[in-house]
Amino acid sequence: MDHPNYAVIGHPIAHSRSPHIHTRFAALTGITLNYEAIEAPVGAFAATLRTLRLQGLKGCNVTLPFKPEALSLAELSSDRAQRAGAANTLGWSDQGRLWADNTDGAGLCRDLTERAGFPVAGRRLLILGAGGAVAGCLAPLLALRPAHVTLCNRSPEKLRPLLDRHQDLGVPLAVLPWGECPVHGFDGVLNGTSAALGGSAFSLPQGLWAKGAWALDMVYGPAAAAFLQAARDQGASTRDGLGMLVEQAALSFERWHGVRPDTNPVFNELRQIVPEA
Ligand code: NDP
Repeated sequence: MDHPNYAVIGHPIAHSRSPHIHTRFAALTGITLNYEAIEAPVGAFAATLRTLRLQGLKGCNVTLPFKPEALSLAELSSDRAQRAGAANTLGWSDQGRLWADNTDGAGLCRDLTERAGFPVAGRRLLILGAGGAVAGCLAPLLALRPAHVTLCNRSPEKLRPLLDRHQDLGVPLAVLPWGECPVHGFDGVLNGTSAALGGSAFSLPQGLWAKGAWALDMVYGPAAAAFLQAARDQGASTRDGLGMLVEQAALSFERWHGVRPDTNPVFNELRQIVPEA
């Protein structure tokens, strides 16, 4: 197989663990594929996708900065992708129509509830960030019926559209400008910012977490250390984004191949390489 039939497309993309994860899923399920990481020049996502399709591409994951464009190119899209305003998974129907989905949020929820065992239903959540990852996760999180969700982002103008797209889902949503995090206890706090990846950290007020609360950073590896340590210092149980990464990949795999891979062996292997910070 010269050309990939599955891929992840982004810019940059060299860091991606998706080829490893999908190749392991394929081995575990007996499926043959050639999954590669493809770097598309900024402004050339659609052209790159067209070329890959002509060469035999059957489906792809999409990452920064192309997720919104991936959704806009698709003829068919899932409700969760529309609410996110972004797609991380593309494929073609039997009729050759491009479809888009977003598995980030469902992947997060699976890891949060099934592997970490963190409760969401009836709990008070705080979500930091309002970028693509948070947008992708909000609808699936709300489907788990938290008591209410507070959203907080450095750039407040990003919060209103996010709120508008999710207000009909029956969970009270509140918005706070950055730096005005209320100093009372949340049962769960999700960090969906890329602050630590950019080398900057933000301070978290004392009393942010309630007793017995949890914290999840969508980032994994050393970049998650500052947030997770601050949470532990306040007594919270912690989780990084490695499980979310593996679970969103498994959901994409299932969309393409109709088979749900066992994620535990792949998660455990990666955990050896990337311990929780
Ligand atoms: P985006 O670029 O779309 O959004 C970045 C977010 O981080 C914005 O809310 C931005 O705020 C905020 N931010 C960036 N720098 C700072 C800072 N110095 N202080 C405060 N806020 C800051 O990225 P994504 O949403 O796609 O990704 C967010 C994180 O989630 C990334 O670290 C990514 O690696 C991770 N991720 C993990 C996944 C997984 O499977 N585990 C899947 C997808 C993402 P502002 O709006 O003000 O710019």
